[in-house]
Amino acid sequence: MNAEIISVGTELLLGQVVNTDAAIVAQALSGLGINLLYSAVVGDNEERLRAAVETAISRSDLLVMTGGLGPTADDLTKETTAAAAGKKLALHQESLERIQNYFNEKKVSENQEKQAWLPEGCTVLQNDNGTAPGCAFQAENGCTIIMLPGPPSELAPMLHHYAVPYLAQNQDSVIVSHNIHIYGRGEAPVAQMMDDLMDGENPTLAPYAKEGECMLRVTAKAPTPEEADKMCQPLMDEIRRRLGDFIYSVDVETLEELVVQELQKQGKTLATAESCTGGLLAKRVTDIPGSSAVFQTGCVTYANSAKEALLDVPHDVLARHGAVSEETARAMAQGIVKRAGADIGIGITGIAGPEGGTSEKPVGLIYIALSDGKDTWVAKRSPIGRTKSRQWHRHCAASQALDMTRRYLAGLPVLFD
Ligand code: ATP
Repeated sequence: MNAEIISVGTELLLGQVVNTDAAIVAQALSGLGINLLYSAVVGDNEERLRAAVETAISRSDLLVMTGGLGPTADDLTKETTAAAAGKKLALHQESLERIQNYFNEKKVSENQEKQAWLPEGCTVLQNDNGTAPGCAFQAENGCTIIMLPGPPSELAPMLHHYAVPYLAQNQDSVIVSHNIHIYGRGEAPVAQMMDDLMDGENPTLAPYAKEGECMLRVTAKAPTPEEADKMCQPLMDEIRRRLGDFIYSVDVETLEELVVQELQKQGKTLATAESCTGGLLAKRVTDIPGSSAVFQTGCVTYANSAKEALLDVPHDVLARHGAVSEETARAMAQGIVKRAGADIGIGITGIAGPEGGTSEKPVGLIYIALSDGKDTWVAKRSPIGRTKSRQWHRHCAASQALDMTRRYLAGLPVLFD
């Protein structure tokens, strides 16, 4: 089945609202094994909307419309789409009653009532989070048309609770994807290593770059999720064989999520001492629900005096090697692990830029240390390639600290080449 999406709204064309509806619908269609061939945005203009709908109906099996179902004059989707599909609108009594109940009024305004006028003979998709119902129906040429409201908080539940089951009735296949997350090898070398695996049609393999990381997505299409999953496995095994420890997870989407999960499993705790990352590492860890059980404390020690007072970094170390040095990072990690009484301590110090670099200590030079109170490992990040932003250096340093933590927890070498 070939599908397309038309998202309606001038605010989308002006860039005032990001088209998240299209992404939500696209993901759902992919999960159903439906091929999405086009996704368009049209403003609140009857003529252009009608032309777009007519084109879509003539070339696709399924058209999903988002937005423009509401009560205001610029909400044109239903009238225009129904006309283009050769359907009349009829009052749907049950939807009218739902709108009356929503406003707790027997008589609602003409504008509000307009929302209960739906294409004749359609399947009504109930709106559990707003007033405008959605609908599903067939155009005269057999193209299935689904209309969903614009606000994502209304669209997503309607899509998942009513539209997806409606579409699933007629589907003979599903799509299953697995995301393989990689740290320590970039997108280009990974793509090169996987070159001979990229041509497959079912399952398919595609590389994606993430900030300082990369990801491989394995996707298969089959009659059932179990069969699709089984088809993915041999390819995933081969990828595991080639990338080994550089794979940090399959389907756990972030390093911080994985690290919190592992700390929880092992009943271990983490404490952080950050300088150039300004608390970003602590933020990323504490963004994860349940992190309170494993995260003890995070110190942002920017000034040398704070490093001495809060982490017991020896004055001598700072004076001899400077704040940005392997020795200081080591002392920060050892200081925090001891002070916090945690199982693992992280120390990060470096130059995030854009100012403050020298030829000896350039922007992007960052030391990251991990200490378990007994042993301490220090990684050095050197600036390579093109100039990166302050935000990029900070993010990547925090990611590297998380990767070192997951390696430590997995019993792998904490540092890699
Ligand atoms: P309403 O009853 O709220 O009018 P509607 O179906 O008529 O619903 P629109 O009027 O098109 O929807 O949009 C209402 C709001 O929903 C927009 O102002 C915007 O904030 C959000 N919205 C609309 N379309 C999208 C979209 N494609 N992606 C993300 N948000 C959207």
